[in-house]
Amino acid sequence: LFVTFEGGDGVGKTTQAALLEAWLRDAGRTVVRTREPGGTEVGVLIRDIVLHHRGEVAPRAEALLYAADRAHHVETLVRPALARGEVVIQDRYLDSSVAYQGAGRVLGRDEVRELSLWATGGLLPDVTVLLDLDPASARARLEADEKPFDRLEAEKEHFHARVREEFLALAAAEPERFLVLDAALPPDALAAAVRARVEPLLA
Ligand code: C5P
Ligand code: MG
Repeated sequence: LFVTFEGGDGVGKTTQAALLEAWLRDAGRTVVRTREPGGTEVGVLIRDIVLHHRGEVAPRAEALLYAADRAHHVETLVRPALARGEVVIQDRYLDSSVAYQGAGRVLGRDEVRELSLWATGGLLPDVTVLLDLDPASARARLEADEKPFDRLEAEKEHFHARVREEFLALAAAEPERFLVLDAALPPDALAAAVRARVEPLLA
């Protein structure tokens, strides 16, 4: 079972991924919780390039770096875990690439998606939880936690509004894969909604 969490910065993906992991472990499941970019040793190096040299990397090169991270991650970590019958819970996956790069309006959403599918051999999640939140609330949360709001993009409110719209459009296009939740709800209410969606899929 492959579950991904998506959404903008500060919506609570990491928190919800951790809550789902804890619940599955209590139920006796073997869980791999991981993230992109940076879910492998090679991926950590790629994460450093894409996050710390953002703006310096040409858009097509950036897309290829995310795709390279994803290809390596899927082949060396995600697919082997799924083949062992484990649950993989992932903080961001291909929808983040489509949303962030689609929002950047440099590369088309279809070409970014095609690149991702090529990189992963077509691996799609069984369930994708989209935590939807307006960017102003997300920013307030990150500031309260003293976390940077998308590092270099802090002042670009419009960018984050477009990312949010891209995620919602992706969810609308694939309603059977996506569970869209209002990330302003309390964490335990969100966790309960996630469990309700995942539980019937546990063999
Ligand atoms: O959620 P995480 O801290 O891993 O995300 C790091 C940053 O990478 C985010 O702020 C997001 O802007 C960016 N990102 C991106 N495209 C992706 C994945 C992440 O621009 N495919
Ligand atoms: Mg996070």
